[in-house]
Amino acid sequence: MKTIRDYYQSPAIAMKATVLQITPSDTGGTVILDHTLFCVQGGGQPADHGTIAGIPVTHVEAAKDSDIVFHSVSSLEGLKEGSEVELRIDVPRRVLNSKLHTGGHLLAALVEEILPGSKACGGHHWPGEARVEFIYDGQLPSDFEQALCTMIDNAVANDLTVKRSLTNEGDRFVQIGEYPALRCGGTHCWSLKQLGRLIVRGIKQKKDRLRIGYDVSVDLSSQRYA
Ligand SMILES: [Zn+2]
Repeated sequence: MKTIRDYYQSPAIAMKATVLQITPSDTGGTVILDHTLFCVQGGGQPADHGTIAGIPVTHVEAAKDSDIVFHSVSSLEGLKEGSEVELRIDVPRRVLNSKLHTGGHLLAALVEEILPGSKACGGHHWPGEARVEFIYDGQLPSDFEQALCTMIDNAVANDLTVKRSLTNEGDRFVQIGEYPALRCGGTHCWSLKQLGRLIVRGIKQKKDRLRIGYDVSVDLSSQRYA
């Protein structure tokens, strides 16, 4: 059994898919589909929400080392294995998660450029608590924050593209402008103008770790992200 993750390449917010398996649970049940538009939780990004056949999707996750995506739903009423169902993504949630995730990639690329020897080692892109962590044991230049904010604004003003590619093995890579492509399964803006403003919330350095908190401007327009 396998779920094809259409959101890796498609900005669609609705599509039809076939139910492969349903499993009841205390809170409703779990649905496995042949295709999905729901981004799984992981890589520092929360899962997409939305509906399957009108039933709310409360969580989406993938089994480790498996191509199967599990959609938690609040009810299994009307769902049958083998039937075709309509998937609909919660667009405002998708937009916000995509902006925060793209902002994290941008911060990582710019900080590594400004601070020689620094290396992004983790990211958490949840609303209200987004941050990127770096391994860095050097002295921060006194104009670091100002230089970073200027580079962020320039990258957004230049509307750098966010490219996706999929290898034959199914590995998905994401690349901002000419910065190195990174293996990533999340959802993103298509170019940096969609990001709007990226705001640095705080910079903390402790031992060999540097942590940068950030936020994005919220413009829940009809732009599509994947
Ligand atoms: Zn990503």
